[in-house]
Amino acid sequence: MKLHEYQAKEILAKYGIPVPPGKVAFTPEEAREIAREVGKTVVIKAQVHVGGRGKAGGVKLAKTPAEAEEVAKKILGMNIKGLTVKKVLVAEAADIAKEYYAGLILDRSSQRVVMMVSREGGVDIEEVARENPEAIVKYPIDPHKGLRPFEARQIVIDAGLEGNLNKLADVLVKLYKAYVGVDAFLAEINPLVVTKDGEIVAVDAKIDLDDNALFRHPDLAKLREVEAEHPLELEAQNYGFAYVKLDGNIGILGNGAGLVMYTLDLVNRVGGKPANFLDIGGGAKADVVYNALKLLSKDPDVKGIFINIFGGITRADEVAKGVIKALEEGIVKVPIVMRVAGTAEEEAKKLLEGKPVYMYPTSIEAAKAIVAMVEGKK
Ligand code: GDP
Ligand code: MG
Repeated sequence: MKLHEYQAKEILAKYGIPVPPGKVAFTPEEAREIAREVGKTVVIKAQVHVGGRGKAGGVKLAKTPAEAEEVAKKILGMNIKGLTVKKVLVAEAADIAKEYYAGLILDRSSQRVVMMVSREGGVDIEEVARENPEAIVKYPIDPHKGLRPFEARQIVIDAGLEGNLNKLADVLVKLYKAYVGVDAFLAEINPLVVTKDGEIVAVDAKIDLDDNALFRHPDLAKLREVEAEHPLELEAQNYGFAYVKLDGNIGILGNGAGLVMYTLDLVNRVGGKPANFLDIGGGAKADVVYNALKLLSKDPDVKGIFINIFGGITRADEVAKGVIKALEEGIVKVPIVMRVAGTAEEEAKKLLEGKPVYMYPTSIEAAKAIVAMVEGKK
């Protein structure tokens, strides 16, 4: 479960990490009032469950209460990556000297929570991770011992952070305590700022909670906002699909989480970008496939669809019937490539003969074909 920045900051503050004082506003007038209370330059920040708000125009400074009202008017209602901004955080602006990155993730391969710290924090951290990964220090944490202060100080030194060593290390120790304390999957401070006065503050915060541990945190479980989730993910939930929106342009539909993950990897490997994860589950009938295609067709990012079915309990001919129904009703307007194997494979192929579906005998051929078809389409 994702938290908003202001909720994540409340958690960090509870664990003793300095965050800029601020409040949430739902209207421009409220933003003005909060700015007046703060009495200094404020930063107005869209509260939506996606990153990159700054680059999308959802983070802006305002020097006066009147300006805060004006800026909030622009940001409220804005659409950022498919989500409508319904509230903004109005916080005292930090006077930034340096922007660092500090994050914790659960790393399945090392079976540890891993701390990542970089002196190259800020809005381009993804690019740093891609192009200059050695600029990010990674430190697996022993679950029995936790992150001890001397380790945190070593991380700060290894990452080359400049500023008060003890204060920086203290933030890392507290971030780890918060991460464990709320049962998070991910906790990130980006940027972790050193101000011109040498103070250290968490200017942005992101925490994703482990849904399976929410029963231990009823107060946090209450923070779930159905309306803040991606509309397509909501619709998928109503259909009972396992669906995750991604940022590419190839719609993926498969049966079984493993096969779908494999299909995502394959599309990536041959140079494409999946638009989603969608698992229709085992034993899906035609109407389930039809609904899945209806869902994918509502995503304007989808420029082509790759259906990958391995018939086990799921019968390939049922899948074919669902595809045909969606085609006949004109629901799907983008090319479909398909690979079917297993139970009722021959029946499926017969049903699909002459239909506008590109069939391929293997997943890799289908992946290459769909990538070629959507190439150049955003
Ligand atoms: P994100 O784009 O969603 O990660 O939102 P952030 O909160 O990280 O803000 C993006 C960028 O806006 C930061 O990296 C800063 O450069 C800038 N920014 C955010 N808050 C402040 C602030 O209080 N003061 C100043 N000067 N810049 C800020
Ligand atoms: Mg940020």
